[in-house]
Amino acid sequence: MSAIPRRADIAVIGAGVAGLCTALFLARAGRTVAVLERGEAWGESSGANAGTLSLQVKRNEVLQVSRRAIELWRDFQERDGMEIGFARIGGLRVATSERELVNLRKSQGEQAALGVATEWYDGNRLRDFAPWLGPEVQAATYCDWDSMSVPLTAGHGLVMAVRAAGVTVATGAAVTAIARDGEGFCLQVGSEIVGAAQIVIAAGAWTGDVAQMLGVRLPVAADINMLTISEPAPRLFDRVVTHIGAILSLKQYPNGSVLIGGGWQGTGDLAQGTRRTDYLNLVHNLRVAMQVVPALRHLRMVRSWAGYEGVAADALPLFGALPGVPGAFVNACARGGYHQGPALGEQMAEMILGRKLSLDMRAFDPGRFAA
Ligand SMILES: Cc1cc2nc3c(=O)[nH]c(=O)nc-3n(C[C@H](O)[C@H](O)[C@H](O)COP(=O)(O)OP(=O)(O)OC[C@H]3O[C@@H](n4cnc5c(N)ncnc54)[C@H](O)[C@@H]3O)c2cc1C
Repeated sequence: MSAIPRRADIAVIGAGVAGLCTALFLARAGRTVAVLERGEAWGESSGANAGTLSLQVKRNEVLQVSRRAIELWRDFQERDGMEIGFARIGGLRVATSERELVNLRKSQGEQAALGVATEWYDGNRLRDFAPWLGPEVQAATYCDWDSMSVPLTAGHGLVMAVRAAGVTVATGAAVTAIARDGEGFCLQVGSEIVGAAQIVIAAGAWTGDVAQMLGVRLPVAADINMLTISEPAPRLFDRVVTHIGAILSLKQYPNGSVLIGGGWQGTGDLAQGTRRTDYLNLVHNLRVAMQVVPALRHLRMVRSWAGYEGVAADALPLFGALPGVPGAFVNACARGGYHQGPALGEQMAEMILGRKLSLDMRAFDPGRFAA
């Protein structure tokens, strides 16, 4: 356990992307912030994820947040000098059947109406643009916002930046109870008590458990997502690749390793702390990947893993004030929450600082689940 701070203006529970980005923006605004993490910083979902920052796969409700997040990931790297492996390489979202073509056109229209332009490719134009795609790919939309980052690099870079901004990041610091203390809060961490005027619950898949410490029920479940990584290979493709009709995300890291995922489910149970890869689903995932990029057939896969992703009942972020508990806030459970993390952190800081939010976040208010 690292040293536990006695007091902070704001205590953030959880050192994943949601908690760390919230802490960063609050510290930049001059607040004293302590992040309390029960394990290692970046040790759960944020450290297990694929680093896909694809705007065009996002639900319409989170498009604006997701676009802002890409600007912030870029700023973190280019303006603030964080090493996060960010690259705006553009992304292709492919269709392999007539029905998927219809859905892709529909999605393209909806996104254009929301200000996210994509370009349509099919026939020879598609083959010229992406000669590495398989013959079963009939069309694709290209989005030049789509990006990637390397989560293992990003975690290190973000934790360093957060600490440099003056935030205390305490690891091995599980919050086991929270009580009101006048206008503020007392948080139990081992035998220590941490006092804070305000708190942010950014506990990922465990957000429901932490909210319950204050008597609030939030409907949070955990997906168990899987990823597979290949041995390093010569450059096979140069975009983030996703699929309108099948579960797929594909990218090739700078070292040549190909990361294959998209959300195929493993098995396990959050309450028991178990998570395992499911081989049948892994095979499906690899089959879809090789249909879309046939050159992957020649690669050796070196590792597969599974991690938890917290999701609310409607799969939209839980973002805003904790219902009935003044001074307590939630920033958790955005699906594809790694992508959205910087923007959700920025907006959460604006909310806590009492500023007018620069994005419309009302649809994500946790109060939507209040009885
Ligand atoms: C295999 C996989 C692939 C994914 N791929 C992508 C992708 O390509 N792109 C994308 O955008 N998203 C992806 N995701 C989803 C993404 O990783 C998550 O949405 C995001 O990382 C969630 O961040 P978080 O900070 O909310 O949660 P976490 O990173 O899980 O952080 C929450 C932290 O809270 C801590 N905590 C919990 N309870 C307590 C407590 N009582 N006291 C103290 N600390 C506590 C936990 O230990 C944890 O470290 C993927 C997820 C997985 C599992």
